[in-house]
Amino acid sequence: MIENNYRAFDQIAPILITDLFERHNGLLVFGSIMVELKLLIVSFIALYSFAQIIECLPVRKKKICHFLPENEKLLFSNFKRRNHPRSKNYRHIPFYINKELSYDEPTNLIIHTHYDKSFYDFPSNILKLYKDYLIPEAIKYWENSLKVKYRYFPILLGRSCVNLQLVFDDSTKSVACETDCSETTKCGDYITIPEEHLDTCKYCVNNKSCTNRGKQKGGIKADFILYISAIDSRHCNASNTVAFASYCQLESKYNRPVGGYVNICPHSVSTKKSDIDPALATLKHEILHALGFSAGLFGFFLDANGNPLTERNPSTGKPPFNTKTNMYEASSRVVQNVKRSNWKIGNKRITRNIKMLITPKVLAEVRKHFNCSTLEGAELEDQGDIGTRLTHWEKRVFENEAMTGTYTQNSVFSKITFAFLEDTGWYIANYSMAEELRWGSNLGCDFVKKSCKSWMDSRREKNLSIQPFCDYIPANENVNTKYECNEQRDAVLLCNMVEYSHEIPTIYRNFDSYYHQNHSHAKNWLPRYSFSHLGGSVALADYCPFMQQVSWSMNNEIRDSRCIYEENSPDKSKNYILENYGSKSKCFSHSRSWLIYTNECTSRITVSKTIGCYQVIFYFLFKI
Ligand SMILES: [Zn+2]
Repeated sequence: MIENNYRAFDQIAPILITDLFERHNGLLVFGSIMVELKLLIVSFIALYSFAQIIECLPVRKKKICHFLPENEKLLFSNFKRRNHPRSKNYRHIPFYINKELSYDEPTNLIIHTHYDKSFYDFPSNILKLYKDYLIPEAIKYWENSLKVKYRYFPILLGRSCVNLQLVFDDSTKSVACETDCSETTKCGDYITIPEEHLDTCKYCVNNKSCTNRGKQKGGIKADFILYISAIDSRHCNASNTVAFASYCQLESKYNRPVGGYVNICPHSVSTKKSDIDPALATLKHEILHALGFSAGLFGFFLDANGNPLTERNPSTGKPPFNTKTNMYEASSRVVQNVKRSNWKIGNKRITRNIKMLITPKVLAEVRKHFNCSTLEGAELEDQGDIGTRLTHWEKRVFENEAMTGTYTQNSVFSKITFAFLEDTGWYIANYSMAEELRWGSNLGCDFVKKSCKSWMDSRREKNLSIQPFCDYIPANENVNTKYECNEQRDAVLLCNMVEYSHEIPTIYRNFDSYYHQNHSHAKNWLPRYSFSHLGGSVALADYCPFMQQVSWSMNNEIRDSRCIYEENSPDKSKNYILENYGSKSKCFSHSRSWLIYTNECTSRITVSKTIGCYQVIFYFLFKI
């Protein structure tokens, strides 16, 4: 799934300047959010702010979803054996396993991609971009990053039964369809699995006379079959979704997903250069949900020896199924409830209940990353619908980690996600493919175990920077003085704090009168606001405000603040600080305001924006 709460924010300066000169209204958009529209008249700018949809994954005002398969529709390939009792010594080798391949030697993941016919409805330029570049690139990333521990090769997926009814054939100790096998088997709701991918299917009438249906073919020589479709489904239309994905079949002994799909919503695609990185991050994220990053699979995780971490029901061979959450439950060896007492919010302290993934490698990685030896595990997202909640890392704690529930900026797949993949028990991860997560690095237990309000208050008391959080509303400040370069100097950032039209849920209130007392500059505007309405624009980050890339929308074009994209250049007539966007550009501060002389030098205007993107020409000088 995955990934662009591009804080669709906007480059405010050009808007301000535009306004100075032409009295145009600029549109300011915080990227992660998008539900309620509210007009704020602040100084001479008309700004729109949005409250966030907390479900799915917004990508530039749009969302990406992971849908957990309904329990009855989740099939187990080679499901003839799925009711076999497990024992430590039981070594299951499917009869169609390719004997030439070593079973025990972990080998690089092989993904077979099958394009649904709907995919070919894309115009040729989109088809080329996705089929020749984006999808192969995303797949290559995971093939190079993961080795499969228990190879099931080649794959023959299970066929579904009519009415999804199964019976257990006692004589052969196998499962069969109760009345008949379905003519077609789907992966997800829309994609029909081709006949050559399917195993034979047995059905038993009156539980007696059993017949096989479908010819078993050679199968697919891969570890995972990924179906790619581009169906404008109700999921796309209902929520302005970019893409959605899931696994659809698990292998029967170790329960690793062996089949899954990604549906790309046709209206969401773009060939704009600046949309390509987010699209790639999105595909990698979505594929990872299909490969195993899903709360629906936590109950199937294995220890290092291949034994289940959650006890299986002897009669089904599966973990216990919770009909309320619609998910297989995981034991406390995988997920634990943790109580955080003294959780600071608003003017009070509460006890906050959080869920943490506590598997060994993830635990070691998060402790190392945050430099907190008492950290219990990796916090899971507590907001959003079933496709977001628990199935992503908590946004407040992991911000730009790619497996958080919304894309904001600079998406990275960190060692923590790689550790997760190893802790599934199905993969060995190549950590050299992991990317560096800077957010929260070495900030200690106070950062990772307390609310962002606690962090901000305690840092202010010590006169220290409250980074990575921030606490001003750009719309209420002279934003031109508030821009910052990100650490990599490849984008211009602003604080994503906004005033909501509604009260923020109590447990996510991060401001109170203390903030007022300590912000002399804010006294002019704060009395107009209730503290219960103040928060960051990314709801999944528990409304904690943080510095985020900016994008701005004008004349229906969205530009953003990443320096390397030429298309982000301001219009020539409005390029007041002579910025230069392009592949060699970086973010710089020129520290002083610029003066612009107009009317044959008779008038003078001060442009106080002192941060912008500029082409690096004499890079070698910096190296010296
Ligand atoms: Zn996701």
